[in-house]
Amino acid sequence: MTASRPATDGALVLFSGGQDSAVCLAWALSRHDRVETVGFDYGQRHIVEMEARQRVRAGVLERYPQWAERLGEDHVLDLRSYGAVAESALTADRAIEMTQRGLPSTFVPGRNLVFLVYAAALADRRGLDVLVGGMCETDYSGYPDCRRDTLDAMQQALNLGMEQAFRIETPLMRLTKAQTWQLAASLGGESLVGLIVEQSHTCYRGERGELHPWGYGCGECPACELRAAGWDGWVAAGRPAGAP
Ligand code: ZN
Repeated sequence: MTASRPATDGALVLFSGGQDSAVCLAWALSRHDRVETVGFDYGQRHIVEMEARQRVRAGVLERYPQWAERLGEDHVLDLRSYGAVAESALTADRAIEMTQRGLPSTFVPGRNLVFLVYAAALADRRGLDVLVGGMCETDYSGYPDCRRDTLDAMQQALNLGMEQAFRIETPLMRLTKAQTWQLAASLGGESLVGLIVEQSHTCYRGERGELHPWGYGCGECPACELRAAGWDGWVAAGRPAGAP
C-alpha cells in the first residue's frame, strides 16, 4: 500500500477557518513539503466558517509564494449526520452556557475524535503522514477531546486500526491564546497577523459586522472573549514575534 507514497513529507491540516486552524496551516506550511486542508460540514449554523476557510487559503496563496508552492488541495467532508447526533449550541440555536457536567454547551461530544477518523482516512488515501490540529488544553480545558492524552490515545488507535504511522501534531497544545498570536507573528510576520485578524472567523454567533483589533465578531460570546483576551495579552506583552 505504500508503493504510491511520494517521497515528500505531507501533512493534512484540520482547517475550520478559525484563528487556531489558520495558525496551524501556516505552521504546517513552514515545515512540511506538501500540505492539504480538510474542513467538516457538520451542520454549522454559520456559512461564514466555510467562507473564512476559503479567504484564509486565498490570502496565504497571495501573500506567501514560498508556501503557495506547498499548499495543495482543500477537502470538505459532509458530516451532517454526525452533527444531527451531536447537536449542541454550535449547530443548533441553543444558548451558550455551562452544562451540569461542567462542560460548555458548545461542547460537541467526540467531535475531534470523529474529525480525526475522517481526516486519517483521507490522509491515507492522499498519502499524507501527518495530521495537524489546533487543539489546545491551555486556556480552555473544558473540551476533553482537545487534551493531548486523548490525542495520543487516538493516534495509537488510528495507527493500530489503519496499519499506519500517522503523527498527530498539535502546535498550539501548550500555548496561551496570546502565544498563539505570537506564533502567527513569528511564522508570517504582521502580514499573517493581519490576514488572521481580518479573514479568520471564531465567533460562535457568526457575526461579522464590526472589525475589532482582534477580528470580526460579536465580542460577547465565549469564543470572542477568548480571542479578544488573547489579543490583549499579546499587545500587553509588546506584540513579541519570536517563537513562543
Ligand atoms: Zn462572538
